[in-house]
Amino acid sequence: MRVLLLGAPGAGKGTQAKILADSIGVPHIASGDLFRNHQAEGTDLGKLAKSYMDAGELVPDEVVIQMVLDRIGQTDAETGYILDGFPRTVPQAEALDRALASQNGVLDSVELIEVAVEDLTRRLSGRWSCGQCQRPYHEISARPTELWVCDDCGVDLQQRADDRPESVVRRLEVYQIQTAPLVQYYEKQGKLTRIEGQNSIGQVSHDLLKAIGRERELTGKTEKIV
Ligand code: AMP
Repeated sequence: MRVLLLGAPGAGKGTQAKILADSIGVPHIASGDLFRNHQAEGTDLGKLAKSYMDAGELVPDEVVIQMVLDRIGQTDAETGYILDGFPRTVPQAEALDRALASQNGVLDSVELIEVAVEDLTRRLSGRWSCGQCQRPYHEISARPTELWVCDDCGVDLQQRADDRPESVVRRLEVYQIQTAPLVQYYEKQGKLTRIEGQNSIGQVSHDLLKAIGRERELTGKTEKIV
């Protein structure tokens, strides 16, 4: 099952993609995490991406397309995946459709997680994540048991450079200009379901699993809101 979570930065795609991926047993493939992994490893791709990411701009299409198509071609993704953060432009969506069609595949469904702009800004500015497993936390609504250490890995939490206010404003603008057109793109394909993203994490997970026809896989681990 190949699923795409669409939504503005801060809508909760990362949190929900992780829950969905764990629930249905497919990998969570997040283009932003792939770039952050490259940065952590000091690769040329990581260095190239960093300047765009810190400024809140998109990394050029050809770079991200190659990186994500390589990732979804790996064996653990054969039975499907949850895509988070890719595609983010119409040319990326077209490239994904072409790549899948060449293997007689399609994206099964696209879920748009909707959150009001004021809430997106609040969510992004209080956000922390684990430098190792990328698990997200929030200083108001999803604190770790021990400040500021990951509950899962015991590694120090960090704030993303692009969660600074000036980058946040730009990321939200970029979303409106370059990514929002994907809503129509997938609506035309009859694949898009709108999900209310202001509900609790548990409710959103429930709605997502229902939308992709996997309601039975809902687990109990969804109390905190990020
Ligand atoms: P995210 O973790 O999804 O918020 O992504 C962080 C940053 O990585 C974005 O602001 C972009 O600079 C870059 N990025 C991630 N995914 C893409 C993509 N599909 N296309 C272009 N840039 C991307």
